[in-house]
Amino acid sequence: MDGLLNETHDPALKSWVESASRAGQDFTLQNLPFAVFRRDGSGEAFRGGVAIGDEIVDLAALASARLFDGEAAQALAACAAPTLNDFMARGPQAWSALRLALSRALRAGSAQTAALRPCLVPQGDAEYALPARIGDYTDFYASIHHATNVGRLFRPDNPLLPNYKWLPIGYHGRASSIGVSGQRFVRPSGQIMAPGAERPSVGPCQRLDYELEVGIFIGAGNALGTSIALDDAEAHVFGLCLLNDWSARDIQAWEYQPLGPFLAKSFATTISPWIVTLEALAPYRAAWTRPAEDPQPLPYLESVAQRRMGAFDIQLEVWLQTERMRREGQTGERLSHTSFRHAYWSVAQMVAHHTVNGCGLQPGDLLGSGTMSGPEPGEAGSLLELSVGGKQPLRLANGEERRFLQDGDTVILRGFAERAASARVGFGAAVGHIMPARTGDAADA
Ligand code: MN
Repeated sequence: MDGLLNETHDPALKSWVESASRAGQDFTLQNLPFAVFRRDGSGEAFRGGVAIGDEIVDLAALASARLFDGEAAQALAACAAPTLNDFMARGPQAWSALRLALSRALRAGSAQTAALRPCLVPQGDAEYALPARIGDYTDFYASIHHATNVGRLFRPDNPLLPNYKWLPIGYHGRASSIGVSGQRFVRPSGQIMAPGAERPSVGPCQRLDYELEVGIFIGAGNALGTSIALDDAEAHVFGLCLLNDWSARDIQAWEYQPLGPFLAKSFATTISPWIVTLEALAPYRAAWTRPAEDPQPLPYLESVAQRRMGAFDIQLEVWLQTERMRREGQTGERLSHTSFRHAYWSVAQMVAHHTVNGCGLQPGDLLGSGTMSGPEPGEAGSLLELSVGGKQPLRLANGEERRFLQDGDTVILRGFAERAASARVGFGAAVGHIMPARTGDAADA
């Protein structure tokens, strides 16, 4: 990974935006993640922005200021649009050119300080939109710990199906239900087969859950009928975000065989506004490994580069804020934490496998990693796992209990990468809030 590091990763760099250097800051000068935003409630056009400390660099304003030239200027012009699809389509050279120009302009002592300062908007004044027009959304299942935990609950005799260790399992989700952090949604209703019942009933979901996932935004796509080779795959990935794949477990248990998740997943999916580029994550790459006793990948999923640095060590956390915590001024309780490095399949393997049949990916397509659970019990990325299918309620510090989510609950996903020799690179948060089922969605009795 040393070859992937450049001057923008230097941990000694400081910005003239002083909040970027605060301890625990997600949005350091070495991060520079992308979002789409506007001033809250302003009616302004949405446009691209880059986070720096507590501020956003307004990329439309910066494009008008004509501070950059060459490839960085062309890339910047694409970021003035209300979605980042055109910028994503330009590929790694363009992303990297803009990152370098921004890094230099934001460094302490930069000659561009005075010209850039008017382009800053405080994050506290901003509202966000989805960063891209998401044409297609695919959700994978890349944590073997999650697949085994869940498989055990749904099929005690046969937790892990035989294909799991050979290919990254996925299903096609609904792009229409993806929302940006702050998403509020109504508890879904659907068809449920209660345990021991003779026939299903319809009504509000009783086993509502979150899934802690990493989102993968596709940059440049591939033509239908072509495949993306494993070692080219990361050049097609614009960056990563946080993704909460809200799940209705009772609806899922009844509907999922034989074609996989359907209405249990398509009522809401929440992503963080900020997309962290793979370039920003370069210091946090890790070896991708496969236990020697497991099947080793087929040739199209195997490479020296993947073995050396195909994984990313991103810390992931789930926080819950109940209605009572909110009333009592508590910010929430952490339910679990894990790392993306435990994924059984890497980002590049998911992309290569997705296109092995010639499927075309397009700029702005979104892939979910699947629920990220680590090997330890406290590292599970869903309540289904933490409560063992609802059998063991989770005791919260304030005395409340949760088997599954209740109306009024807010779930907050966080992610960051941190270590001594590198600058912290954080994702901010993906926040979603559950509202009661609509009246009229009551049971069919
Ligand atoms: Mn999922």
